[in-house]
Amino acid sequence: MADFFNAFKSEESHFLSPGKGGQLNPDYPIITINNIPFTITVIKYSMKTIHEEKIYFFRNKLLGWYKEEGRSFPWRKNTASNYELIMAEIFLQRTKAETVANFLPRFFKKYPNWDELGKASEDEIKAFIKPLGLYKQKGKRIYELAQELRKRKGRFPKKRNEIEEIPMMGQYITNAYELYVLNKKSPLLDVNMARVLERFFGKRKKADIRYDPYLQNLAYNVVNINKSKELNWAVLDFAAKVCKIKPLCNLCIIKNLCTYYSKAIYT
Ligand code: SF4
Repeated sequence: MADFFNAFKSEESHFLSPGKGGQLNPDYPIITINNIPFTITVIKYSMKTIHEEKIYFFRNKLLGWYKEEGRSFPWRKNTASNYELIMAEIFLQRTKAETVANFLPRFFKKYPNWDELGKASEDEIKAFIKPLGLYKQKGKRIYELAQELRKRKGRFPKKRNEIEEIPMMGQYITNAYELYVLNKKSPLLDVNMARVLERFFGKRKKADIRYDPYLQNLAYNVVNINKSKELNWAVLDFAAKVCKIKPLCNLCIIKNLCTYYSKAIYT
């Protein structure tokens, strides 16, 4: 029995069919739960197949939605420099995009590139970013990042593990660097993207997004298309406008295949 229930946790879905009036299929194993006999139907749907169909649907719908409803921010313009893109992503962590959009023009006027930012002291940076909040911790790390990049003349190392070792360049910002600067199909997987993916496709297995292989794998799969950047932005905008902490499921264009929605209406 333990093996049977463990199978539910595996990569495949199994289905229980209750026996009606002695019509259990004798070809399949029979078990009893609370005196009700069930056949373990041998139909198995590979998780991979289900995800592929759902991923295709998810991408198409969200890219269509993004064309009409996507937000427009300065760092999404083709003219944004690598410096601007990375700094925008740093400020976007734990701060609303609209607040960051208002603040960034002033920041870039004062510190237009890595070199100028590298000339600023830690206290100057902290004082300048104070209106955004979290300025002590963020200011210190931005200062360290700027020192490192100034030393490197604005160039990042080639290997991902070396990039991640630079102050402030955790998994998320390194993904942003890969997406924007190296044109790789990397996900901007933060709590907001994680919320949409988990609700639509199914829950993560570990508390920390960075170490959840299911969520990581899923996110990389979802954005693995030519329009990777647009899809990343589409998911983030969808998280901000529709699949919010309190989701607007009734207005949602992907509710038909959404795991969270189907559970909400059938339970
Ligand atoms: S149906 Fe609701 S939970 Fe599912 S993706 Fe849409 S808004 Fe999010």
